[in-house]
Amino acid sequence: MTAHTGATPAQSLLSVRDLIVEIPTRRGVLRPVDGVSFEIQAGEILGVVGESGAGKSITGAAIIRLLERPARIAGGSVHLAGRRIDTLDSDSLRRVRGGQIGTVFQDPSTSLDPLQRIGDQLAETARLHLGVSRSNARERALQALIDVGIPGAAERLDAYPHEFSGGMRQRVVIALALIGEPDLVIADEPTTALDVSVQAQVLGLLKNLCRERGTGVMLITHDMGVIAETTDRVAVLYAGRVAEVGPTPAVLTDAAHPYTRGLMASTPNPIPGDKHQRRLQQIPGSMPGLLSVPTGCAFHPRCEHTMAICSQRRPPSVPVRSSDVGCWLHSEVPET
Ligand code: SF4
Repeated sequence: MTAHTGATPAQSLLSVRDLIVEIPTRRGVLRPVDGVSFEIQAGEILGVVGESGAGKSITGAAIIRLLERPARIAGGSVHLAGRRIDTLDSDSLRRVRGGQIGTVFQDPSTSLDPLQRIGDQLAETARLHLGVSRSNARERALQALIDVGIPGAAERLDAYPHEFSGGMRQRVVIALALIGEPDLVIADEPTTALDVSVQAQVLGLLKNLCRERGTGVMLITHDMGVIAETTDRVAVLYAGRVAEVGPTPAVLTDAAHPYTRGLMASTPNPIPGDKHQRRLQQIPGSMPGLLSVPTGCAFHPRCEHTMAICSQRRPPSVPVRSSDVGCWLHSEVPET
């Protein structure tokens, strides 16, 4: 399924086309990512949302080729600033990771070395990816901590990760992701482990820093509230496929895909400033397991608009208003 975004790989900061990830198992080949396409422009925040099992995190991991074995990319392409990166050798890819692409994960311990001082970790990353001198790297490390709002940054350079609170540690991870001056940041549930009061601060910080620097962001979350507050565009994933991708305000207020509408109806107050009280409605059924993805449109057993074609053929992604939508309600049904 190809998104009709109109942009070419050369024009977009990140272009993911028809990406397929497969996991061979004794019971068959699983496809947690099945033909995913989207683009991210410089300075843009794309939210990737869906229920657990939709393929959000594995799509992010595939882009930077951090898939856990035996998962592997089985098709499609990934271009960063016009350069194809899914076929790079491991040395070139290591330079892209941390250099052109920064990462922020839910658990800071996956990014921070508990045995190394924060300042040393930041300076080492700056030296590795920017090729700066030791003293310049130290200055950059200090500035990076100041930029993410660490109080007493000069004194905290010599602290270890465990000496920071959860919220402050995640700020350090953001500093680490940005110190290599990346073009793109992939943030996977970056605030899910934090207190609600700290979540908004950390997300606001990530958003502002990336805006100022023109950094593109792929923000993976299960939280429609985070999407509404933080992103410019949103891709809604279902069973490893893009159900709908478009500008966030349009998708939140006028979704074209029945699954997106269901997600919205099951989220309390997803639209910022909207005080209307509505009855929450659950989508019947649950996300299919990877061994039992339904034929045709994977959402058809749960959809109230199912037609005969829905269980037979997978819908193409077509432009609908300002979005791209994979649903037969918006496509011409082929004659059989
Ligand atoms: Fe529903 Fe059919 Fe559209 Fe799938 S393709 S979302 S089953 S109407």
